[in-house]
Amino acid sequence: MSESNTVRVRFAPSPTGPLHIGGVRTALYNYLFARHAGGTMILRIEDTDSKRYVPGSEAYIVEALQWLNIQIDEGVSQGGNYGPYRQSERKEIYKKYIDQLLEQDKAYLAFDSPEQLEAKRAEDPNFQYDASSRLSMINSLTLSATQVEERLQGGEDYTVRFKIEPDRSIEVQDMIRGRVVFNSSVLDDKVLYKSADQLPTYHLANVVDDHLMKISHVIRGEEWLPSTPLHVLLYEALGWDKQMPLFAHLPLLLKPDGKGKLSKRDGDRLNFPVFPLNWEDPQSGEISKGYREAGYFPQAIINFLALLGWNPGDNREMFSMDQLIEAFTIERCSKSGAKFDYEKARWFNHQYMQELDNSTLAEILLPLIEAKGYKTSRGFVEAILVHIKERMVFPQDFWDQAAYFFVAPDQYDAKTVAKRWKPESAAQLTELGDLLERISDYSDAEAIESEVKAWIEQKSYKMGLIMNAFRLALVGEGKGPGMFDIVCLLGKEETLQRLRKAIITLG
Ligand code: GLU
Repeated sequence: MSESNTVRVRFAPSPTGPLHIGGVRTALYNYLFARHAGGTMILRIEDTDSKRYVPGSEAYIVEALQWLNIQIDEGVSQGGNYGPYRQSERKEIYKKYIDQLLEQDKAYLAFDSPEQLEAKRAEDPNFQYDASSRLSMINSLTLSATQVEERLQGGEDYTVRFKIEPDRSIEVQDMIRGRVVFNSSVLDDKVLYKSADQLPTYHLANVVDDHLMKISHVIRGEEWLPSTPLHVLLYEALGWDKQMPLFAHLPLLLKPDGKGKLSKRDGDRLNFPVFPLNWEDPQSGEISKGYREAGYFPQAIINFLALLGWNPGDNREMFSMDQLIEAFTIERCSKSGAKFDYEKARWFNHQYMQELDNSTLAEILLPLIEAKGYKTSRGFVEAILVHIKERMVFPQDFWDQAAYFFVAPDQYDAKTVAKRWKPESAAQLTELGDLLERISDYSDAEAIESEVKAWIEQKSYKMGLIMNAFRLALVGEGKGPGMFDIVCLLGKEETLQRLRKAIITLG
């Protein structure tokens, strides 16, 4: 993109609860698009619907974007030349445009009460407040100027509705979908302002702000496609048609199994998070799980989301944020929905885990180990990681994989005992203990291994039998890395103690 400094995009969430993972993807694509073009990324909070406002959601959105390193250039925390960036603080700004539309007869005042509208809908399920019905409703088109004035003086609530001209064809060139044609008759006369709230609705504020903030590209979820004709008509009505942004509607995120849109219920049902961070519902106290708390790395989530609806045109899968910025173009976004394959998120996390160096990972793990009640050193954790990192997807897997390095088994897995502990095991492991007692260097796993193997051969014992019983004694079950690596990590004293304990306990 050559007109780089003119690229201005916005992520415009409504603070109605925790940011859904689909919203995160929208933010990411806006960010990648902006950075790729050397443009500006804006965070605008669309909080004009007081009924749906949920305290804490704005802070949640900001924290989630920070965690994921989706950087905002202008917004609620950063400020900027086009602020304020919270719509509830822009009331005065919108007023002017409402007045302009009213003066130019492009909008009108409507006094129909919620009950009256309800009754209309009950009468006719297809009722739509539009060109076909507006003249039979209570509004400034049907009341006299004096009657309108009286109602206003009396403090009656009203709305301002946009007068939509019927049967106009509105054409939009969507950057992902190509040419999309709408008929204006599908739209009702949208409410632009509610006197009761003293606030414009989303419809007006969203459009006015796109213009005032000089938004060049509106990149948002497919669910907003139906609002596009209104966007176009309002830009026209306000005389801004020359500065219309370009639109790109991102494909839906689909259920991992079956058809339809990804929902929170799919996450609960299949046990994966649909939010970036944990969220505690301020009313019910219910906690919804987040990717961060589930042990995902932010880079893994970014990498995963980037490929849900966009592809690089080749079969590369691993991308850092910088590589994504470099490679990202809207043209490579797909029209069709992207299946939310959360197993792939685990796969990415595993990949990032392997790329992380052991000392950084150990630093992450130390507090987790401490929380289990064990003090240890970073060096020891690093040494364990050499052998078990490959089996880890999440940091918290460390404990499942490695607890026995910190706590001697006090029970032995019954199934493994039945299978692996033979009548001769106690005697053989006693001999093995004597041999290990004589060895003094516990830093060289291979050296210990060859001594033990030589003894097994000389005695014509069965290798598998001894090793399995040995593992059971040190680990408590049949898992773990190579036996002699375990021996070296535990050290001589601990190895012998565990061996003797098993011999006594299992007999
Ligand atoms: N406030 C809308 C939302 O919650 C923004 C839609 C748009 O990006 O235009 O997603």
